[in-house]
Amino acid sequence: MSISDREYKIFARQIILKEFSEIKFNSFRNNKIAIVGMGGIGCPISQYLISSGIRNIKIIDDDIIKLSNLNRQTLYDVKNINKKKVEIAKLRLNKINPDSNILAIDKKINSKNINNHLFDSNLIIDCTDNLKTMSLINNYAVKKHIPLLSCSVVGFDGQVILFKNHKNKHICLKCLYPSEKEPMISRCDQVGVLGSVAGLTALVATQLAINFLLKNKENLDKLILVSSKNLTLQKISIETNKNCSNYMLY
Ligand SMILES: [Zn+2]
Repeated sequence: MSISDREYKIFARQIILKEFSEIKFNSFRNNKIAIVGMGGIGCPISQYLISSGIRNIKIIDDDIIKLSNLNRQTLYDVKNINKKKVEIAKLRLNKINPDSNILAIDKKINSKNINNHLFDSNLIIDCTDNLKTMSLINNYAVKKHIPLLSCSVVGFDGQVILFKNHKNKHICLKCLYPSEKEPMISRCDQVGVLGSVAGLTALVATQLAINFLLKNKENLDKLILVSSKNLTLQKISIETNKNCSNYMLY
C-alpha cells in the first residue's frame, strides 16, 4: 500500500529522519504486528506503533473494560466500562491514523486458534499476564520462528525481551524461566502496579520493536529490566538453556 496524502502529513516530522526515508518508511509500515493482551502494556504499545506509522496491527483480547483498568490502560475511559477492549482500542487507534488496518480479535488465544491468528505476523508482542498463555505463545513463536517480544510489569518494575527465534540459534522464554510450575511473574491484580511503570515498560518495548523492524540487531535476546524507582534500564545477556524443552525440539 502506498503512503496516503494524509499519512504524509501525519508522519511529516518522522519522514524527515534519514532512518525513515520514503522507501524505508514504506517497508517499515507494512510490517504485520500482532499484540496479544490489550491491557496496561498493550494499550501504549499499540498507540505508539500506530503513531510510528505501522499500518497492520492485530489486537487480540477477549476482556471487557473495568474501572480498575483505567489507571494504566490508556485507550479506555469511564464511558467504555463493560465494553470490549479490542473494539474501543480499534476505534481509538483508527483515530490516530484512519488509513491504518487494525484487526480486532475478541478471543482468548488458545492452542486451537493460535495459528489462525498469529501465523502471518512479522512480530508477535505478548502483553498477557498469565503463565499458561505466555508459555503457549512462546512455544508457538519458537516453532514457527516468528520473533517474539515479551513484556511484563508488576509493582514498580518491568521486564522486556525480544527473542529473535532464529532457526540457527535457540533462546526462548522457557530458557529463561524453565519451570512451568513456578510463577514467572507476580500478577498485578495481587501485588499492584503503578500506571506510569506500565507506560514506561511499554515504551521501552515499543522502541525495541521499532529498532528491530528497522533491522537494528542490538539488544535482541537480552532481558531488559526497567526499574522505575531509580530510573535505570539493566540489560542481561541470556544464554541457551540446553535443558529447555523447546531447545530439545531443535
Ligand atoms: Zn528455550
